[in-house]
Amino acid sequence: MKGSFLNSHNNSTLSKSDEQWMEHALSLAQKAWDMGEVPVGAVLVRDDIILGEGWNQSISLHDPSAHAEMLAIRQAGHHEQNYRLLNCTLYVTLEPCSMCAGLLVHSRIKRVVFGAPDYKTGCVGSLMNLLSDERLNHQVDVSGGILEAQCAEMLSSFFKFRRAQKKALKKGAD
Ligand SMILES: [Zn+2]
Repeated sequence: MKGSFLNSHNNSTLSKSDEQWMEHALSLAQKAWDMGEVPVGAVLVRDDIILGEGWNQSISLHDPSAHAEMLAIRQAGHHEQNYRLLNCTLYVTLEPCSMCAGLLVHSRIKRVVFGAPDYKTGCVGSLMNLLSDERLNHQVDVSGGILEAQCAEMLSSFFKFRRAQKKALKKGAD
């Protein structure tokens, strides 16, 4: 885990923008697509250094908790040897679900930046906002809609592709 990618963003003097980190998260979402998983990617960053990366792998790992955010945060905890991830920002291509929003609170992450909203399961503004609930002992700053069009487009073309694939399979079976 102490591999070069963790430090690969260290040598730039200009700090990266939200859009640049979201582009990185999109490249991780592509890895999920390549594995036949719903394309969501996440990267956890502190001071322009990557602490963890993840992409959705629920199907491959037989694990309903293997969301991109979960895997990125687990990797960061390992790397930091700490279960609190203070002063970090998580970039994720899709609005986090209730499980991942809960995880963001538990890990004490400072800020989350997401791409596309998820009107069906999003818990960072769409259905509810777990991250600003003052009854919980930690709140997370949220910015949504960063590279929203690209993030949403990747998901909709994936589902379109999968529907076409299923259709073709069905046709072949007839
Ligand atoms: Zn999730």
